[in-house]
Amino acid sequence: MALTFELIEKHGEHEQIVFCHDKTAGLKAIIAIHNTALGPALGGTRMWNYKNEEEALIDVLRLSKGMTYKAAAAGLNLGGGKAVIIGDPEKDKSEALFRAFGQYINSLNGRYITAEDVGTSVKDMGYVFAETHFVTGISPALGGSGDPSPLTANGVLHGIKASVKEKMKTDSLKGVRVAIQGLGKVGSYLAGFLVEQGAEIIVADINEAKTKDMEKRYKAKVVSSDEILFQECDVLAPCAMGAIINDETIKKINCKIVAGGANNQLAENHHGDQLKEMGILYAPDYVINAGGLMNVFVELEGYSKERAIERTETIYDNLLDIFKISREENIPTYQAANALAERRLDSIGRLRQKHPGQMTRTFSTLKIDNR
Ligand code: NAD
Repeated sequence: MALTFELIEKHGEHEQIVFCHDKTAGLKAIIAIHNTALGPALGGTRMWNYKNEEEALIDVLRLSKGMTYKAAAAGLNLGGGKAVIIGDPEKDKSEALFRAFGQYINSLNGRYITAEDVGTSVKDMGYVFAETHFVTGISPALGGSGDPSPLTANGVLHGIKASVKEKMKTDSLKGVRVAIQGLGKVGSYLAGFLVEQGAEIIVADINEAKTKDMEKRYKAKVVSSDEILFQECDVLAPCAMGAIINDETIKKINCKIVAGGANNQLAENHHGDQLKEMGILYAPDYVINAGGLMNVFVELEGYSKERAIERTETIYDNLLDIFKISREENIPTYQAANALAERRLDSIGRLRQKHPGQMTRTFSTLKIDNR
């Protein structure tokens, strides 16, 4: 294994890394706080059977940095952080494990706020909540906002609208052909929203029951999951797994716009360059799928569904700003998104340092007295 500090240095300038260990509870976790220039670091807790500790550390360093960019580009007063728990989510979960983890989060006094992620659930976050208030995305029964997927899908809808405006110069989705890959929590809501706006949808999922449902409800055209990426359409909306724009697929993609909810859609950055060369507009994934993060941000302020919906609609303007930077500076949109995030980190982050405490009004309602 490479030396820990070498790894940390290689993966970005993180503010703080916390190793959490509790032998009795079986807890081995790492919290990475990448940047708190804009506000407290927020990011979910991933539980995964990592091959070794190095893999876990690299993952948390990479994911926490991603959260800094996501929050900054979304216009939120949040920093970037993430946590990983090393273990098998099928076998190694217990109340004690999540409560031990909650105590570590509490010890950071609000510098890091967690939520659910791959391998963790609303129920697990309920145990964390027993030890700390610095957890969000908890169940409505505990005063939380519950499943963020409809809000994520609403953000994606507004992102598609911005992309269609930019590329096709129209404000309407009427007759716009959208191919949706994946009809899970995000894809199925998105399908409904698009049909409401008059779009025509083509859908695929590896689960046949889900495609049948879309066919019945919305008269969607169903194609196989091998074909969905290559449909002739206006918008390709990936809403399943990552890395679907790769060396194999990119040559056969037949759309004007790629805009969907999935994370990490580009296998590598150069695929973003290639999309630009092909004249295909790419809505950067971490910008268009920020609705879920916006939803938990509103939960921190004191939840209101109306405000959460309004927030997710700001994705429209965020993307138009990114497309403008991309056009004016002749850079691919994924680079323009990073540039927008870095500019906000620089300008607003600097202001907060100048007058510490003045810019954090948003969090005045966040309870910081802990039991
Ligand atoms: P989900 O697990 O509910 O849905 C994924 C769907 O994709 C499933 O129905 C699955 O059968 C299908 N699928 C898997 N492989 C496929 C393939 N090869 N072809 C077609 N369909 C396939 O997940 P979700 O919550 O809807 O999230 C979808 C994507 O959006 C993920 O990449 C997730 O990380 C991202 N995302 C989700 C949220 C959220 O609020 N749920 C927020 C931000 C990002």
